[in-house]
Amino acid sequence: MTIAENIDKILSKIPSSVRLVAVSKKKSVTAIKEAYNYGIRDFAESRVQEALLKQEELQEYQDICWHFIGHIQTNKAKKILEKFDYIHSVDSLKLAEYLDKLAAKSSIFPHVCLQVKLLPDLNKYGWEIMELWQDLPKLESLNHLKIEGLMTILPLGLSENECLETFAKTKELAVTITEKSSLQLKELSMGMSNDYLLAVEKGATMIRLGTIIFGERN
Ligand SMILES: *Cc1c(COP(=O)(O)O)cnc(C)c1O
Repeated sequence: MTIAENIDKILSKIPSSVRLVAVSKKKSVTAIKEAYNYGIRDFAESRVQEALLKQEELQEYQDICWHFIGHIQTNKAKKILEKFDYIHSVDSLKLAEYLDKLAAKSSIFPHVCLQVKLLPDLNKYGWEIMELWQDLPKLESLNHLKIEGLMTILPLGLSENECLETFAKTKELAVTITEKSSLQLKELSMGMSNDYLLAVEKGATMIRLGTIIFGERN
């Protein structure tokens, strides 16, 4: 299967309102161009250095929207704000406050999602539900971050029902926060290659797909 055929197949299965974000980490610029030529404009990377090299090579592709989906180290935060249009992986109050401070200095208003962890997962960053409610007043007071939604990554090994339930709970959380705070969480960044159809069924607005578009990563 070619990248174009893979994209075709995915697009035939999801509503046009869902934003397909192609996760190009560990994939070549050639592969990105192939997806671009097939109409994809949203690309996601999880490592800064790797992404910057690719962006350099893709300078003429001005209409690419770059998404950052990896854990953010403080010393990379400034570059990420400069070079990415959308940050999915704001995973702590401390990081949110730091990004907000940097954004204020540059007078920019970056679009971000808050990364949440609805099930315990040692390998994943993000807020647990209780922690997020505790931090909410402080998050509401950030003037520069445009906090637009929630992002989640499911732990490995869940059944189909558990996936559905967890995606549904993520949506519920976004809806409740929107009702009870000043944040408007309309975006749900959830669903990867092996669970995106379940995520879409439960209201995902952005799906982050790597393997199923570009093939296995080494
Ligand atoms: C790598 C990655 C993806 C893509 O995963 P696939 O299983 O290859 O689709 C999505 N989201 C995040 C946060 C990732 O790190």
